[in-house]
Amino acid sequence: MAPGGGGFLKEATEFCIASADSDLATSDAELGSSIYRNTAPGLGRNLGRPASNYDVDELLECPVCMNLMHPPIYQCPNGHTLCSNCKGRVHNSCPTCRHELGNIRCLALEKVSESLELPCRYKELGCHDIFPYYSKIKHEKHCKHRPFNCPYSGNYCSVTGDIPLLVGHLKNDHKVDMHDGCSFNHRYVKSSPQEVGDATWMLSVFNCFGRQFCLHFEAFHLEMAPVYMAFLRFMGEEEEAKQFSYSLEVGGNGRKLTWKGIPRSIRDSHKKVRDSQDGLIIHRNLALFFSGGNMKELKLRLSGRIWEVQ
Ligand SMILES: [Zn+2]
Ligand SMILES: [Zn+2]
Ligand SMILES: [Zn+2]
Ligand SMILES: [Zn+2]
Repeated sequence: MAPGGGGFLKEATEFCIASADSDLATSDAELGSSIYRNTAPGLGRNLGRPASNYDVDELLECPVCMNLMHPPIYQCPNGHTLCSNCKGRVHNSCPTCRHELGNIRCLALEKVSESLELPCRYKELGCHDIFPYYSKIKHEKHCKHRPFNCPYSGNYCSVTGDIPLLVGHLKNDHKVDMHDGCSFNHRYVKSSPQEVGDATWMLSVFNCFGRQFCLHFEAFHLEMAPVYMAFLRFMGEEEEAKQFSYSLEVGGNGRKLTWKGIPRSIRDSHKKVRDSQDGLIIHRNLALFFSGGNMKELKLRLSGRIWEVQ
């Protein structure tokens, strides 16, 4: 038996439910009317006080990481609660009273947390949906208001935001070339084409149909073979990306290689697109042949076009 026995259980219950309000009965009824999605019969009436999630939010705040707790929620024998992430980090010692922690769950608080309706974490970015905890987690993975990652393909960049913010960021911080228009003609010149590093890439952005498209040009090894690859990513959701199509052409010496594709959303990382080979792939020997066969310098002329699919 855990230290404290029945006393512990009572204390725990009191902590979990009643500490937001010292009167257990009122508190129960209030919880019923304000925070439960499916209110129990008899508890669902508005009992006259304005609904407030504030106290409950406080109750559910992990004292260590300050995040909102969700099941499993743990507590020490003295009733101090903490989240499961933090439980793994406190070496079995309650961060509040230093008592040995054990594996005691706080079921009452878990129930409260499960039924609490929470705003989507991207509320500030325009999402007004609210969900019980698990639905919220599921929703947030796909919420269309969640920020985009910076599409720059170099070293990892941690900047996130909406499209206008990222366009400004690409221009100002990464000094990316910005072009207006739906067709393009780019020349890629590389002085020592025999060195195809895994980190050689170029990014240009096109403003077209009032939207932005990232043209990536990369040199890397595909199963040991040095290749160049060009592909387009759309700065927006995948659903919108599908409304566009693009073509790429590269050639020389009377030969031509073309690619027609659908831009990928920048929700997919450039690495993911590259690894799926969803773009124009030019093997180095062919690239050198297009370029005029000169091993000292690679000159590739890449042309392309973006159009709307009806
Ligand atoms: Zn925590
Ligand atoms: Zn404790
Ligand atoms: Zn959302
Ligand atoms: Zn960036």
